[in-house]
Amino acid sequence: MMSSTPFVILPMSSSTMAYLPLFGLTNGFLMALYTSLTQLFSHIPLGLIYVSVQCVFQNGFDLRLRPRLTNAASNQLDSLTVCLQGINLGDGPDTRLLKLNSKPYTARGAYAALDTARDNTDSHDRRIWGTRVPNKVKVFAWLYFKDRLSTRVNLHAKHVVDDDQCQRCANSVEDRNHVFFGCSSSSELWRVMGLSHISLLSDDEVWNANAPPGLDASIWPFVFLTILWRLWDDRNGQVFRNETSCSRVVISRVCDDLVVWRKRLHPDLVNSLHGWRSFLLDCTGTAFAHSG
Ligand SMILES: [Zn+2]
Repeated sequence: MMSSTPFVILPMSSSTMAYLPLFGLTNGFLMALYTSLTQLFSHIPLGLIYVSVQCVFQNGFDLRLRPRLTNAASNQLDSLTVCLQGINLGDGPDTRLLKLNSKPYTARGAYAALDTARDNTDSHDRRIWGTRVPNKVKVFAWLYFKDRLSTRVNLHAKHVVDDDQCQRCANSVEDRNHVFFGCSSSSELWRVMGLSHISLLSDDEVWNANAPPGLDASIWPFVFLTILWRLWDDRNGQVFRNETSCSRVVISRVCDDLVVWRKRLHPDLVNSLHGWRSFLLDCTGTAFAHSG
């Protein structure tokens, strides 16, 4: 007896990839539960782990589970039973099917399914990797948009540090937003650039932030990632290297980076980059004026 739909997809938690084919007619039925329905799996006697799909279907889903299911295991069994009720075994050959497109499994199809299942955070990937900044900045930016940088909040969550307070201003929780937009030198930088509103933008919106008048918005991502890179470097300099800093120093370093990295851009964009650099240098003058 063969199955026309031998690979069955079970309802799984959001943290589990839901498009993996789980089991086939002749494969171990219960082994499939190990990664998807762990509570239920814990009630399976060891001797029955390798019972086949065919056997389970023929016996009316009699899984011969250990008695006294926990509530979680009971709920998972209910979900499994409902899922299996829609499955009819046939005489055709086994075929792997992807849940998302119901087509035979291929690596290309799985990749395409992954691609369309991307969450909003992953939508930044193409922006990041498509920007012409050096790879070290791209990796940094990827961590930034994933909120995986070692901010005090993230370190505290991992029990690496005792508190989540900013070590520079000591009055705020140091999350990503605070490092890049809230802490004094960061907020000052955006203020002198006339871009204070950027702290209110979502990660999606920030890619399309309005460029200051007369500047080429097409290279804003290049400039933006460079600024973030230097703000993070500035933060680390103060925390780990006992350096003193201010927005003027950060902007100057950004300008230096733009000079060094200008050849990474298409020659047609170099003048645009010079425009941004001139604007930033003017901003350092503004910062000087405000700091006295
Ligand atoms: Zn701070």
